[in-house]
Amino acid sequence: MEQEKLRRLEEKCIQDCAPPCTAACPVHVDVRSLTGHIARGDFSAALKLLRKTLPFPTIIGSICDQPCRSHCNRSLAGGSIEIAALERACAFTADTPAPKILVLPARDKRVAIVGGGLGGLTAAFDLRKKGYAVTVFEAAGSLGGSIRKVGGERLTPECIEGELAVLEAIGVEVELHTKADVFNLPDFDAVFAAPGAAGGSQYLPVDPITYATAREGLFAGGSLLRDAYSPILSVADGRRAAISIDRYLQNVSLTASRAGEGSLQSCLYTNMGSVKPAIAPPRSPNGFTIQEAVQEADRCLQCECLECVKVCRYLEAFGSYPNKYIRETYNNLSIVMGVRQSNALINSCSLCGLCAEVCPKGLDMGSVMSDARRIMIGQKRMPPSAHDFALRDMLFANSDASALCIPAPGKDSCEYLFFPGCQLSASAPEHVEKTYALLRDTFSADVGLMLGCCGAPADWAGRDDLLKQVLDDFSVQHRRMGSPRLILACPSCSRVFRRYLPEVETVSLWEVLEKSGAAPVAAPAREHVLSIHDPCSARNDGRLHESVRIIVTNFGYTIKELPLSRQKTTCCSYGGLMWFANAKVAREVIDRRIRESGDDYLTYCSMCRDLFASQGKRCLHLLDLLFENDVSSSSSRACPGWSQRRENRVQLKRRILTKLTGEVMTDDACEHQQEFFIAADVQAVLEQRFILAEDIRQVIAQAEQTGRKLVNPETGSTLAYHKLGCVTYWVEYSSTPGGAFSINNAYSHRMEIIEGVKS
Ligand code: SF4
Ligand code: SF4
Ligand code: SF4
Repeated sequence: MEQEKLRRLEEKCIQDCAPPCTAACPVHVDVRSLTGHIARGDFSAALKLLRKTLPFPTIIGSICDQPCRSHCNRSLAGGSIEIAALERACAFTADTPAPKILVLPARDKRVAIVGGGLGGLTAAFDLRKKGYAVTVFEAAGSLGGSIRKVGGERLTPECIEGELAVLEAIGVEVELHTKADVFNLPDFDAVFAAPGAAGGSQYLPVDPITYATAREGLFAGGSLLRDAYSPILSVADGRRAAISIDRYLQNVSLTASRAGEGSLQSCLYTNMGSVKPAIAPPRSPNGFTIQEAVQEADRCLQCECLECVKVCRYLEAFGSYPNKYIRETYNNLSIVMGVRQSNALINSCSLCGLCAEVCPKGLDMGSVMSDARRIMIGQKRMPPSAHDFALRDMLFANSDASALCIPAPGKDSCEYLFFPGCQLSASAPEHVEKTYALLRDTFSADVGLMLGCCGAPADWAGRDDLLKQVLDDFSVQHRRMGSPRLILACPSCSRVFRRYLPEVETVSLWEVLEKSGAAPVAAPAREHVLSIHDPCSARNDGRLHESVRIIVTNFGYTIKELPLSRQKTTCCSYGGLMWFANAKVAREVIDRRIRESGDDYLTYCSMCRDLFASQGKRCLHLLDLLFENDVSSSSSRACPGWSQRRENRVQLKRRILTKLTGEVMTDDACEHQQEFFIAADVQAVLEQRFILAEDIRQVIAQAEQTGRKLVNPETGSTLAYHKLGCVTYWVEYSSTPGGAFSINNAYSHRMEIIEGVKS
């Protein structure tokens, strides 16, 4: 991923943008954090935070004219937050001694500030902290200028003196009763004619960004550029001038990177859809009491986007948000030597695209993570472990043991080819047979059948080499059948064929069944309410969503929509191979989805059905409605394990070959043999560890043939290992009286045993 592309993607995520209040505040007070502290009753932390931005928080909190307020999102639901009143409350409430201000080591430059109003004093404060020698010249007998007029009863002279004492504490020199001439201060390296200062500067042209005048070293405040007095704009003027003077004295660009200063338009999106109105609490005459302030701060919405994180458990699980994830991913790709910390982040995404649907900027983290996987594989830096099991399963589905491509009986080619997908064949092979028969009976006699995998796992894993191999093999078979139109039951297959073989005509099984008016074998049950889970790979197929709903309604069921459905549906955790890369997050994804409704779910992807069922959710596949006599009990049909899924594919091929062609598969083509016994509790552990019966069979066969095994003389238990692909499998087993084996345990890891090496 090049830097340029990275930057473009990062910029799409606006979560880091300041909320509207902070953006509109001329000095960008972090209002969100401020209200957060106050809402928790931590006024000291609130004041500490204010002091990071405001030089004189008590003064400003008392008289701020709040340009931020009119931008507050709360204005849409109960009225804007009383931000200045909260600042004042924390300035007067916090029991915190004035902090010691850090002043940088002295620099040999002197700055004159002409005018002791808020702008001049802010510039003096900022420049002194940077180590400059600063002198404030004020014509009147006290500092503060207009603040003494606008402060009224809210701001007593004692309060003003107390707050401005910080200037003396940090070493700012003040000359009162001194009318300095801004053009004639030869002892100073720079001069700031502060807002409101006379001194002869008012007719000078002033640069509105830098406040530089045409005269070398002379800067003039922003009040010259506006009519009305604004306390907070005066502070901002002083700060802007201080930045310019510092740059001028350091001889660096006055204009570079100044776009972030002053009031700005926020680019942060905040979803106000579910915000309930709440009005401000009544305010005591002297401002908010502690309780009132806490109550008011609690009305703050803590504006942020995170639309994608709210709907995606995977994004939430890694503790941050896309902007940061993109940077982490880029760093991960850039590491030449050392540990790649973000492999789990890259491999766990289900690539479902929901984030792009809800993001106001359309950022698709799925495509970011898919690209990252491909780059890492291209660089040979992706450990093979994460997706290995799923890829081997794909290869098995396309092996001689379970793959098949035949025309309709008695034909050499076909007009249509039913492609049920490898997971439907694994989950409900009898439904594949029944559907194929139904298609030939009610749709067209010229429908062939192809069993196999479309290559989606290779696509998700970023294995373009394997994907190409699968698609090439498919194309050969497809041409052999006369390039028929595909009838697809699985939305993931549809997506793969549309994306990579657009020349192949496809139609969804569900559209075909809708049009052919297929009728269920069981009586309709209007009272049976079903919530439809749309598979994520069908996200953008509105026609398919409609077909499914028409079929279900025609069958006589009542549909209740889930909160996230159709285009905004969620993934079941199988997409992107999340289930294999991060089982913990995958379970949480499923758990979150199945808790959305107590109704039975109905879906049209067998993997979604099986994964929901595996976590105890009553869930139906659409074909259950069509073919099952007892639909209600089918809702709790167990999810077949990984070994059983392979076995189902093998047996499906056998039955179809025998039934339609009379061909009988030899046992060699069917690798799996029931030659050992696995107790249910051991089987459950093997499922979690992705260890197949076939893996165990090979380990035992190897051990028994070669004698390479360890036998525990006390228990009689045997331990053996065998490396299959990149994984080493270990099996503990015992012989049974009947000559078969009983499996006690099995585990696997990606370690190679090198024999004969002595330490
Ligand atoms: S939805 Fe997510 S990716 Fe999009 S802007 Fe918001 S936080 Fe960023
Ligand atoms: S609700 Fe809070 S964070 Fe949002 S704009 Fe208003 S003050 Fe700022
Ligand atoms: S799992 Fe889906 S919603 Fe979440 S980041 Fe990946 S593509 Fe986006």
